[in-house]
Amino acid sequence: MVAHQEKKLAEEIKHQNMQNYKASQGQWGRAWEVDWFSLASILFLLTFAPLIVYYFIMSCAQYQCSLTDPLLDLLTGNKHLSEIWNRTPMLTYRAAAIYSIWVAFQVFLYVSIPDFCHKFLSGYVGGVQEGAITPAGVMNKYEINGLQAWIITHVLWFANASYFHFFSPTIIFDNWIPLLWCANILGYAVSTFAMIKGYFFPTNAKDCKFTGNFFYDYMMGIEFNPRIGKWFDFKLFFNGRPGIVAWTLINLSFAAKQQELYGEVTNSMILVNVLQGIYVLDFFWNEAWYLKTIDICHDHFGWYLGWGDCVWLPYLYTLQGLYLVYHPVQLCTAHAVGVLTLGLLGYYIFRTTNHQKDLFRRTNGNCRIWGKKPEYIECSYMSVDGTKYYSKLMTSGFWGWARHFNYTGDLMGSLAYCLACGFEHILPYFYIVYMTILLTHRCIRDEHRCSSKYGKDWKRYTAAVPYRLLPSIF
Ligand code: NDP
Repeated sequence: MVAHQEKKLAEEIKHQNMQNYKASQGQWGRAWEVDWFSLASILFLLTFAPLIVYYFIMSCAQYQCSLTDPLLDLLTGNKHLSEIWNRTPMLTYRAAAIYSIWVAFQVFLYVSIPDFCHKFLSGYVGGVQEGAITPAGVMNKYEINGLQAWIITHVLWFANASYFHFFSPTIIFDNWIPLLWCANILGYAVSTFAMIKGYFFPTNAKDCKFTGNFFYDYMMGIEFNPRIGKWFDFKLFFNGRPGIVAWTLINLSFAAKQQELYGEVTNSMILVNVLQGIYVLDFFWNEAWYLKTIDICHDHFGWYLGWGDCVWLPYLYTLQGLYLVYHPVQLCTAHAVGVLTLGLLGYYIFRTTNHQKDLFRRTNGNCRIWGKKPEYIECSYMSVDGTKYYSKLMTSGFWGWARHFNYTGDLMGSLAYCLACGFEHILPYFYIVYMTILLTHRCIRDEHRCSSKYGKDWKRYTAAVPYRLLPSIF
């Protein structure tokens, strides 16, 4: 009897989710029309984002991570742009070989080895999983095997560092700028390929969006879920691997370089490795949950994701480790404990908040949050064909503290990575500035969508939970 009721409830929830997705058709995804502000922002990013990455990496290599000295040199005429450029390492055959082997190996792990981790790790969801239903009504299946790819890659890395010594663990640092050119080539190649594919051989033509503006389409993508064959999904592959698998290896390579240069690894470098390692592992442990986030459910695949995943993420998310190679900061115990506490607390908030919403939505509110039945606001919305649907917005747990407390936890963790680098330079603080802009913009983007979806019910919700990120402040 109980089993029958549970089955019925599961079917009802599945049906309701299906209705919700169908009803949202036309309400998500990137725009159909481009306003001048979006176009200006896109042109700015297309032009300056690659230069920003170059500027940061070059500042470390040539100016000991000072962000102001290169500018001062150029403005005072002390140096010409050509001198800085001439001192920049170019693309090498070695870097091209390393990068090609790296990407090919990640492709191999992604498409050739079905997940076995879920068979022995209890609580881990891997193997074939269903993603969200796309606006055209397609339900994609994904092979979730990122954790396995991460484990295999890191086991091989440590086996090489400890026993085989085929290459030095400093290999990534030693080829950092030549590898940047390789990452750029892949980033541009994949974005351009995705654009051409969207026009000529899309995976699902009904899930394509064309604005008619070349730059906007190139940047924000045409296809929703471009694939090659049945399983090679561009979004899942490029977002997770090679970028995020590489993140922890890059940090390990920076730690190895510190050891080589100074004969020790500082506590700040260990903190950065540990805290970012937790974040990366969390991502792969929850890869199936990631299928339900905005990146997969709303964003199309263009330069923003393609180039961003290949270049922006591995080069700018790892600035703290790079900085610590040039400035080996040894923190006093109080500072180190403070950074560790902030990082772990931020991670706890980030994970618990995401988990609370996931549990609440999966069970349709039939769960316990902090030992109590969750409180929520019943809300409704209309689909484009005028049918009315129902949903729930939770107002208890961390979701009662602020409307995006998961972002707050993420920001606390990000700040901890930066604080690990001390206070001598601003370069390592780029990450917290960037994450604050990214997540605040995401808040506004998401709330705009929710407001048009839920109308007056969203107003009731924002009255019940009045703050976005920080209770009583914002
Ligand atoms: P969320 O997981 O916060 O999802 C937002 C959606 O949740 C809304 O559109 C709405 O969807 C639903 N929702 C909103 N409020 C409620 C509520 N009170 N109760 C139930 N459902 C609600 O957003 P993201 O996908 O952006 O973020 C996921 C995580 O990824 C975050 O922790 C973020 O910090 C992290 N992240 C990290 C990045 C990085 O570069 N490091 C980049 C981006 C994100 P519906 O229409 O279904 O109601």
